[in-house]
Amino acid sequence: MSTTSEVLTQTENVRTGTMKAFVMNGLDHVGFVEKPIPTPGPNDAVVKTTRALICTSDAHTVHGAIGPREGLTLGHEAVGIVYTVGSEVKNFKPGDRVLVGAITPDWFDDASQAGHSSQSDQPLGGWKFANVKDGVFAEYFHVNQADANMALIPETVPDEAAVYCCDMLSTGFLGAELANIPIGGTVAVFAEGPVGLMATAGARLRGAGLIIGVESVPKRQELARHYGADVIVDFSKVDPVAAILEITGGKGVDGAIEALGSDLTFQNAIKVTKAGGTIANVGYHGHGDYLHIPRLDWGVGMSEKYIVNGLCPGGKLRMERLLRIIDNRRVDPTLMTSHTFSFDELDVAFDMMDKKLDGVVKPLITF
Ligand SMILES: [Zn+2]
Repeated sequence: MSTTSEVLTQTENVRTGTMKAFVMNGLDHVGFVEKPIPTPGPNDAVVKTTRALICTSDAHTVHGAIGPREGLTLGHEAVGIVYTVGSEVKNFKPGDRVLVGAITPDWFDDASQAGHSSQSDQPLGGWKFANVKDGVFAEYFHVNQADANMALIPETVPDEAAVYCCDMLSTGFLGAELANIPIGGTVAVFAEGPVGLMATAGARLRGAGLIIGVESVPKRQELARHYGADVIVDFSKVDPVAAILEITGGKGVDGAIEALGSDLTFQNAIKVTKAGGTIANVGYHGHGDYLHIPRLDWGVGMSEKYIVNGLCPGGKLRMERLLRIIDNRRVDPTLMTSHTFSFDELDVAFDMMDKKLDGVVKPLITF
């Protein structure tokens, strides 16, 4: 194993000690800057980025969903090669190929010990990249508590597949987990974007008997069918609530997954869920002050319809499980990669994702 100083001297950037990063400069402004290469604390690591994905939540951030940020590096979905590690890191060494969770909790926090690691430090506190610290759209990035927040990528899993485990597989599968789908049960997935697609795949893995995908874009409908949707409801052509009730013989579904982040969709998810069923919200509600619960459809507050929500779980164990799903070909997330760009073209890719141009599903960034 190399020492930190030896590793540093192997790197072309060490002379200047700077790297290129893609940042948010106030609301609605992004661009490239030079920044110092980060250094790890005793429990941390610095990773040299190899692949990253742009997320719709990056666009939410730039447009002010969590308030202004100045010079903050964007991005939270990336894999790479360990560049250097702190003195207390036991499980990783420079040169290891690693997956890093989008959510990197503080595992010593009370919330983590209570089983809510994504909420460590504060609500959503496990979400550190491009929120409270620099994100991964840079040549190098810093990982806190590396032993718990990174996972080795198996040799048989390529970077471009592993990178989907940072957020998309984890968040989508969380939707299916939270929806509490009985084997053979019915589920509706609202919006077949990348999270909804992985919620669909997760619902199939969890044993759903009928999966209804709600989506209007043909390419996404096709992907939804591939990942397990039995029926597609095109909300641009029919009333999705009426359609889902008809498909389920008027009963409604056992579980509805909100994977968009819209008040209307949230309400529809409640409307189509049967009494005793579960509404699982994993959509990022980036606008407005309130979400609305339809009072009568919620059984005037007594229908035993459970509304649950969650943030992408973090942690090595979770990531190892997700990698196993890919390694054993249960799910191939690379079908969602609609475009590929180099890091130098990230501004173009970001604009495409922000405005949903050219039928984009997920843009992959290569370094
Ligand atoms: Zn994301």
